[in-house]
Amino acid sequence: MNSTPENATDADPNAITIEEANALIASKLPILDEFESLPVNLARGRYLSEDLISPMPSPPFRASAMDGYAYRFADNGNQRQVIADSFAGHPGPNQLSQGQCVRVTTGAKVPDEADTVVQLENVSINEDQLTIQIAPTQPGHHVRDIGSDCRSGACIATAGTRITAGIMGLCAALGIQQLNVYRRIRITVVSTGDELKRSGDTLSEGQIYDANTTLLAALLTDPNFDVRLGEHMLDNPNSVNEALTSASVNADFIMTTGGVSVGTHDHLREVMESRGGVELWKVAMKPGRPLSFGLLDGKTPWFGLPGNPVSAALTTLLFVFPALRHSQQLPSAPLRTLSATSLNNLRKLPGRVEFQRGVLATDADGNLTVSTTGLQDSHVLSSLAQANCFIRLPVRSTGAITGESVTVVPYEFFGQALI
Ligand code: AMP
Ligand code: MG
Repeated sequence: MNSTPENATDADPNAITIEEANALIASKLPILDEFESLPVNLARGRYLSEDLISPMPSPPFRASAMDGYAYRFADNGNQRQVIADSFAGHPGPNQLSQGQCVRVTTGAKVPDEADTVVQLENVSINEDQLTIQIAPTQPGHHVRDIGSDCRSGACIATAGTRITAGIMGLCAALGIQQLNVYRRIRITVVSTGDELKRSGDTLSEGQIYDANTTLLAALLTDPNFDVRLGEHMLDNPNSVNEALTSASVNADFIMTTGGVSVGTHDHLREVMESRGGVELWKVAMKPGRPLSFGLLDGKTPWFGLPGNPVSAALTTLLFVFPALRHSQQLPSAPLRTLSATSLNNLRKLPGRVEFQRGVLATDADGNLTVSTTGLQDSHVLSSLAQANCFIRLPVRSTGAITGESVTVVPYEFFGQALI
């Protein structure tokens, strides 16, 4: 077994940080400012392209919060005469004289001249004579004011907000039928490599199935993205050129995996050099370097992601997701993290931030724990499949010991809650 020398490091003086790479990418990205109008019920998870303003108050009339009796607080005594009913959807009279009241149900209009509701449980009734046994102590009791949920003209949500079920429900309550949203981003995902076959094909010696297009298309499954699988790129300049051209048709973004290292069969880089230029960065992270980016034919943003599936997935989450947000001028979303107790010793060399795959769980005492999925090489796709989080070990870290607290990023933190 190899023992690791004490001063071993994984640092590369030419490497840049994840944040630096994201800033470089953002500085080159075109902005997509095209919008569309959608019926509210189709808008879940989309982003508002303008502030959403309430066109009416909710509730639109003063409504009872209880089944009970509505009356004028200032009237004397605890006796009232019941003169009419006001049921939900069937408003009663608006005028009341001294000592009168109206029977109301929850959601019913409170008569204009009443200001207080006493609930059914706190009265006794004899024919049309009401006795208030426990009187409300303030006017306005159990009366929902006009606009107490939402005022007319109030901003319900600002431009850039992801539309949730709650926002959609509020829109429905306010009679809003259509929402203006950013249009979907069209992304073409392309795999590269002579060794790759589609599932369903028979593998010859030396061939493997293409995992990345399925993996990345799944990561990008989101109402804001329109993902298409491009023509597969073989390891020759003609195929690379043709596949890039067809990938760019109707695409806002192109993502390729593999084919950008300096291997003799990696032609993507040289073709991109001749069609817009390539930025190639070594990012101080593991797995995942190198990362390439360019504008195909000077316009369509292209991400050249690593070929190994775990690296391709992680670079999608860390670089492509923020770029997609940036191109729609959405505010950047810093990665949220949790702390968990490591149930294993975790090995790491200093010099790069490392994203190991882990299984986050809650122990009997309610504390978060994380266990490793084992082998962490970037071809080990089963680690990604078994895990439910990444364990993020900082640049300087030399690993962690059992019982130590580590930082984790649950998979779901890369998406957005849609309540
Ligand atoms: P490359 O950068 O093209 O040399 O690819 C690096 C490694 O990732 C090689 O082992 C490739 O076989 C593998 N690889 C590249 N693309 C894919 C893919 N789409 N699915 C599975 N493995 C891939
Ligand atoms: Mg390859």
